[in-house]
Amino acid sequence: MRFIDLRASLLAIALLVLPAHVVTARVQQQELPAPEAWAALDRGDAEKAAALFREELERIPGNAFLHYGAGYAAFTLGRTDAAISSLKRAIECNPRFVQAMVLLSQVAYQTADLDLAVRTLEKAAAITPRDRRLAQQLEQWRSEAALHDSFKEHSTVRFRVLFEGAAEKAIGDHVATVLESAYWQIGKRLNTYPSETLAVILYTNRQFQDITRAPAWAGGGYDGRIRLPVGGALRSPKTLERVVTHEFVHAVVHSAAPAGVPTWINEGLASYLESPDRAWVVPALRRADGRIPLADLADGFDRFDGPTALVAYAESLVAGQLLCERLGSNLGPFLQMLGNGHTVDQALSSHNVQPDAFYAEWQRRINTK
Ligand SMILES: [Zn+2]
Repeated sequence: MRFIDLRASLLAIALLVLPAHVVTARVQQQELPAPEAWAALDRGDAEKAAALFREELERIPGNAFLHYGAGYAAFTLGRTDAAISSLKRAIECNPRFVQAMVLLSQVAYQTADLDLAVRTLEKAAAITPRDRRLAQQLEQWRSEAALHDSFKEHSTVRFRVLFEGAAEKAIGDHVATVLESAYWQIGKRLNTYPSETLAVILYTNRQFQDITRAPAWAGGGYDGRIRLPVGGALRSPKTLERVVTHEFVHAVVHSAAPAGVPTWINEGLASYLESPDRAWVVPALRRADGRIPLADLADGFDRFDGPTALVAYAESLVAGQLLCERLGSNLGPFLQMLGNGHTVDQALSSHNVQPDAFYAEWQRRINTK
């Protein structure tokens, strides 16, 4: 069985944060500042919205809605630091701004700042004690925080590895070593060396399911921190190295492009770079009944069952390999272009790779007989 993971996803965010137009509708009665900025946010043009909010904030610097809008836009663009500081300002301007607290808590959770997430959501829950969803989310995060508090830690400059107890210490130490070497090896491939400390949490299989709610086939996950279930297969050092490296690639991709990377690229690079042993790919493709078009591989694999996910990963790996071959040292700038809102085709063309030729070659390679 292959070891596969869930995608770095915004799923958790979608649970609590309202879409921009709902927020807009709610605050409309109160004379919404910068209506064009909200409209831009509504139609998905976060870059434009961010610029308009910035402009308007120069005129009215103490407006909570404007800071909230700026935070929302920054978050949509994957600029989490900017989002956090705008949302904090929004709450300073209006200490009862529940929606800003909810969004801030979600962004904080995504950046692995569980403390800030819990503290902020506690404030929101105190203002709206009847909101069941808030209460449930808070409960879930508190138990996650309590679990992590009971964990031991192996920290280096770049990584914070958390694990349960003495029995897991050897695995924790091994994970830290693998990450140190992956930092340079993957950093070089993607021309990206993340500067922030990355948290890596080792769970029992049961804890992993409880916390991540990942599909049963998931072998690990990245959602701002790396989470790994180390109960079974990961006790094999080879597998552990493979899975840790795979998840680390996601962290590096996220660092180059916090948003805008289709799943087939994210998983393709992670699956291709996780290990030089790719002997599983051709048999997996040969066994499969059909092929999944790239367009259906852009938005997460969570909905796939195990066998379908395997084909999705195999096809993505072929694409990831092709990207590495065609882009070489331009992989980093290519990812950054995706992060800045360019399409895959634009980013390929800018680096002298003809999109049509790229897809045709991918198609040829996955139709292996
Ligand atoms: Zn993955």
